[in-house]
Order: sequence, then C-alpha cells, then structure tokens
Amino acid sequence: MAVRPLKWWLLIGLTLFSAIAAMMFGVSRADALQVMLKPSTPKLGDTVSVWIASKSQNSPSVEISGQQYPVFAIAPNRWRAFIPTTPLDKPGTRQVIVSADGQQQTLAMPLASRQFPTQSLWIDESGGGLEPTDYEWDTVSAFKKLVTPQKFWQGAFLRPNDGEITTIFGVQRYYNGVFAEDYYHRGVDYAGAYGSPVISPADGYVRLVGTVAQGFRLHGNTVGVDHGQGVLSIFLHLSKIYVKDGDFVKAGQVVGALGSTGASTGPHLHWGLYVNGQAVDPVPWRYESIE
Ligand SMILES: [Zn+2]
Repeated sequence: MAVRPLKWWLLIGLTLFSAIAAMMFGVSRADALQVMLKPSTPKLGDTVSVWIASKSQNSPSVEISGQQYPVFAIAPNRWRAFIPTTPLDKPGTRQVIVSADGQQQTLAMPLASRQFPTQSLWIDESGGGLEPTDYEWDTVSAFKKLVTPQKFWQGAFLRPNDGEITTIFGVQRYYNGVFAEDYYHRGVDYAGAYGSPVISPADGYVRLVGTVAQGFRLHGNTVGVDHGQGVLSIFLHLSKIYVKDGDFVKAGQVVGALGSTGASTGPHLHWGLYVNGQAVDPVPWRYESIE
C-alpha cells in the first residue's frame, strides 16, 4: 500500500517528461529548418521561390523528382532557390524536398493549370522553316545555362520598351492545324517604333552579343544580360546594339534599338526572361518584385 502512490507519481512524472521532451524536440527541429513556397499556389509560367531558414553552415539542397535546383544564401541562415514553371509542365502536385544537415522537409507544390491563347499558322512546307545556324544555337544555349552566384537585380523589373504588347508570354500554336507540343511563346513582344530604345529591365552583366553577320539568322541581332542567380534576359530582333560582352548595365540603361532582324515579320522587341534555363512569365517579375 505504501509503494502505490510512488508508482503513480513516477508514471505521471515520466509522461510529463516525455511530453515536454517531444515538444522541445519538435520546436528545435522546426527552428532548425523552415521552408516556405511563394507563391504557395503557383500556375503554369510562374517562378516559385523556395525560402529556407536553416542554422546549417552548408547550403541546403532543393529537389523535385531527383532534379536539383541552385540554392543561394540571401542573408545569415537564410537561403532561396527558384523553381521555374512553363506552359509545357503538367499541372498537378509536385513534392519539393529540402534537405540540410540530415534534416529534411517535404512541401507539396500544387501547380495549377492556366489557359494560354493560341495562334493558327498556315505555312508552306516546301519552303523549309528558318533554322538557326550551329554557332547561333550553341551561343544562345550556352547563355541560357548561365547560373552565377551574385544577385544583381533589385526590386521589380522595368518595361524594356515603350511599345504596346502584341504577343504575351505562353501563347501556343497550331501549325497547319496540328498543335505544336513543344512550342510556347518564350517571352513578350513589344511593337515599339523602329529604332526606339531597348533598355535593360534590371542590373546585370552583358553575357551575349550576337549579330546577323555572325550567323544569328533566327534571333537577329541579340543581347543577353545576366541578372545573377540563374535569372537572364534576352532581347531579339534589334536594329542596333550599344553594348559589348562583359559590360555591366544598370536597370534602365539602353542596350540596343528595336528592329526587325532575324525571323521577324515587322519591327518588334522580343524580351525573354529565363530562370534556371527555362523561359518564365515575366509579368510577376515586372509587378511583384521577386527577391
Ligand atoms: Zn516574341
């Protein structure tokens, strides 16, 4: 009889202890690795930011289905990765796996569908399509792969030309009645005046200058700017180029003049915005200030 109360106290004490330990363990884990997606409910074409808080000294890793995404330190114990999405992605939920020092968090990224406008083109197949030269293809491909560690842009991107937008991002096509599976308009077209200024929408280094004379028969006279951390701008069909490879350009600085060089049916600027090699919708970058 004398022993029973002691046993009850032991049991209550042990229960309390384990409950407190579980709470502390849970809190300390959450404190060590926190992950947030922005936007949390993206749609096709959006750039998804993965925000990570981690006490780890080492860079966390971010992956979806085995594919790794570049991660950059943005502040002490703070990291960020970009997941580009495109009209070619299948809507549905992805599992974003973030790992740091043996800890792991999995977040569901529900990628919503989005209707893009379509165009129907009827082309004479006997003429043969305009193909890029090998030099053009290789140079542009190499540029699109650039991922440099520094971040040069600040805040929202500027409009690169004053002309009205004639073709938005993501427009899809039918060629001679057949849906082009791999095609989407990888940028925004501005129908500005011939010779009007084309400005860099954000700070960065010029890492691509291509001319018709060098073989840029599809893109025409082209400038590419590296805004850092896998974010790149490309400007096509220019009539004039005012920068050279390696120049640092400020947001708003004129890089060229609008033209109609390359595969172009009239004066316009094509601005493509690439994130980790994929052409994304520039609209959120223009209006939402992605950091
Ligand atoms: Zn275009």
